[in-house]
Amino acid sequence: MTPFDYARASDVGDALRRGKAPATAYLGGGTNLVDLMRETIARPTSLVDVTGLSDEIRRTDGGGLSIGSAVRNTALAEHREVRAHYPMLTRAILAGASAQIRNMATVGGNMLQRTRCTYFYDTDGSRCNKRQPGSGCDAIGGFDRGHAILGASNSCIATHPSDMCVALAALDAIVHLEGSRGARMLPFVDLHRLPGEHPERDTMLEPGELITAIELPPLPFGANSTYRKVRDRASYAFALVSVAAAIEVEDGTVKDVRIALGGVAHKPWRASKAEAALRGGPANVAAFKAAAEAELADARPLRDNGFKIGLAVRAMTAVLGELAGVMA
Ligand code: SF4
Repeated sequence: MTPFDYARASDVGDALRRGKAPATAYLGGGTNLVDLMRETIARPTSLVDVTGLSDEIRRTDGGGLSIGSAVRNTALAEHREVRAHYPMLTRAILAGASAQIRNMATVGGNMLQRTRCTYFYDTDGSRCNKRQPGSGCDAIGGFDRGHAILGASNSCIATHPSDMCVALAALDAIVHLEGSRGARMLPFVDLHRLPGEHPERDTMLEPGELITAIELPPLPFGANSTYRKVRDRASYAFALVSVAAAIEVEDGTVKDVRIALGGVAHKPWRASKAEAALRGGPANVAAFKAAAEAELADARPLRDNGFKIGLAVRAMTAVLGELAGVMA
């Protein structure tokens, strides 16, 4: 591990001032960053601890929720308003990691965790464009069972690991940021990048920019939502495929719907094609399956992960059917 300085930020301004120094990283719960530092994948020489910043969850004037970036994952999952109005978010968080890790992990840190591609962590023997730009990608042509089927590039086929982020993508969350050029807001679906030619860049954050909060807009049918994660074992495993969905059905017709997928791409995948296909149409299993197939039409399977296409279609169909009460 590279030696580093440690300081605890007293407020956002203090964090930003300290964050301007080269090779500085913001430290949340450290549940991913410390691993990356141990493996020398991340080599910050200064850590700015931001766990003392806002850990408040409050109602917004618009009827949504504002969640401070230092809120712990467990606190968010257990919050009464989240459980009542955004149950998909509670279920997504509880599907991730272990209770101990969720107790430590912060909302801001969860959003910035890096891929769990095994080649990315194999610093001794594997080439990885994300770890070392331009070096190559040993996952391509390698063991790619857990890798992306949507939005991958010739440089990187990694998937995004977070469960929480899949729900945030479906919920149209808004990220609040502070940086050297002031405050700005970013739709959550635009926070993470597809790999393209630069897989070393996971997000659209500017250097030194700090996530201060995440906002959930009101979703009137949010109570009718869920998250389903399909994985190799029942706990402490990353998603092969996951689905976050909410649906509003009136007189047998889909009035509105939100869907996002995990485990399939370099970022949480908002299923916009499926949503468009469903709105205004019949709420039945055949329509759900057709919409899922439309979303997966552009999927590009690799050697070992073609099963993810059918798995994603079945998982989406089942989740929507369950929420609409029309399971076959
Ligand atoms: Fe690295 Fe991406 Fe290739 Fe994995 S898939 S080895 S993260 S470049």
